[in-house]
Amino acid sequence: MAKTARIVAQGDEITTGATLDTNSAWLAERLFDRGIRVLGTASAPDDLDLLARLLLDSSRDCDLLISTGGLGPTTDDVTTEAVGKALGVPLEERAEALEQIRARFRVIGRPMTPSNRKQALLPRGTALLENPAGTAPGFAVDLGRARAFFFPGPPHELHVMADRHLFPWLQEQGSAPLLRRRFHVCGVGESVLQDRLADLALPAGVRLGYKTWLPFNSILLYGETDAAEPLARAAIEVRARLGEDLLGEDDETLPQVVGRLLLARGWTMALAESCTAGGAAALATEVPGSSAWFKGGVVAYSNDVKTGLLGVPATLLAEHGAVSEECAGAMAEAVRRAAAADVGVSITGIAGPDGGSPQKPVGLVCFGLALPHATSTRTVRFGIRGRDRVRSMAAATALEWLRRKLVARSP
Ligand code: ATP
Ligand code: MG
Repeated sequence: MAKTARIVAQGDEITTGATLDTNSAWLAERLFDRGIRVLGTASAPDDLDLLARLLLDSSRDCDLLISTGGLGPTTDDVTTEAVGKALGVPLEERAEALEQIRARFRVIGRPMTPSNRKQALLPRGTALLENPAGTAPGFAVDLGRARAFFFPGPPHELHVMADRHLFPWLQEQGSAPLLRRRFHVCGVGESVLQDRLADLALPAGVRLGYKTWLPFNSILLYGETDAAEPLARAAIEVRARLGEDLLGEDDETLPQVVGRLLLARGWTMALAESCTAGGAAALATEVPGSSAWFKGGVVAYSNDVKTGLLGVPATLLAEHGAVSEECAGAMAEAVRRAAAADVGVSITGIAGPDGGSPQKPVGLVCFGLALPHATSTRTVRFGIRGRDRVRSMAAATALEWLRRKLVARSP
């Protein structure tokens, strides 16, 4: 049974940073889910010797080696040659591969070029793997200690081929999927989570991990296939420790949860956004069917729109400024009224890099939340740099604040 793997990404574009190696990440995640331990990922440029050496080195200590890229028709595609060199076998034209390439060209209605014929050259002794999504066939062969799979570089071709050739092979090998539970929070730092879970006694067979994807953090619990019961016990404990900070589990997202909580009351919401300029509305509408609870929003970026369209009093702006809880409260109430929604949410802040002052530094964001019977406001100072990050944190924080309010007041 395959237990360990290495992944090799091939090509100058990877080693020069022109293309981000998402193939390895995609594979690593899926191997992990299937209980395979990835011992490392590596890359090599379009260089026959370097690639052959990397393949040999990588195949010494693992059960499975997966390579992506470099199977194309151009001279910089050297994977096939490198495998021949690593195995010490010649390349030979495979009639079956040639037929698959011809068939592919018939499907896409284009003439086959002589250089595509190169793709039918495979190292002797390798097993051909059909590519239903492109012209370059893949192949598999025993190399060193590993069963080695060679897939093309374009991500969609890799995905189709892995689904067709790799994952079924792993299943035949008896690789058992890991059990996995994920618990998400928003705006609670990793170190806070770490402290809260520090003395958690995990049952045997269950492991704990963290993942940060600002402004979210996830706690991950993993268990072997036969650890369903211990995993369920650990999950109960994690839920208890997270309390109301727990926004959702597994595939649940923040806007989904907000939508569910609003629907439970038969409520709708509307947004008035200044510094996020629609970021929170975009987040809310990621959820299919969000029109059932999201009415719309106003991008009130300039003071003119805050006063003219939303009706925030000019005197209020003159007295407190656009980035103030007073303005946030007025924006939330105004959009709630204008959209005839049950809930109005507003965001106004300083995303930077300019525009900060000692009193109102970059990263300072005010939020307003107008509910049917009360309006509240709050200010958050995001201690992170970067306009994009302040804006995305602010958008998520607005929805997270609403979620907490809705949870706290059960319908
Ligand atoms: P082709 O027949 O399309 O040339 P190939 O197997 O030769 O296939 P490459 O030439 O190495 O693949 O890469 C083709 C394209 O696939 C690249 O331009 C890039 O967009 C994408 N790609 C390659 N490797 C990776 C990777 N590791 N991660 C993400 N994308 C990749
Ligand atoms: Mg290529």
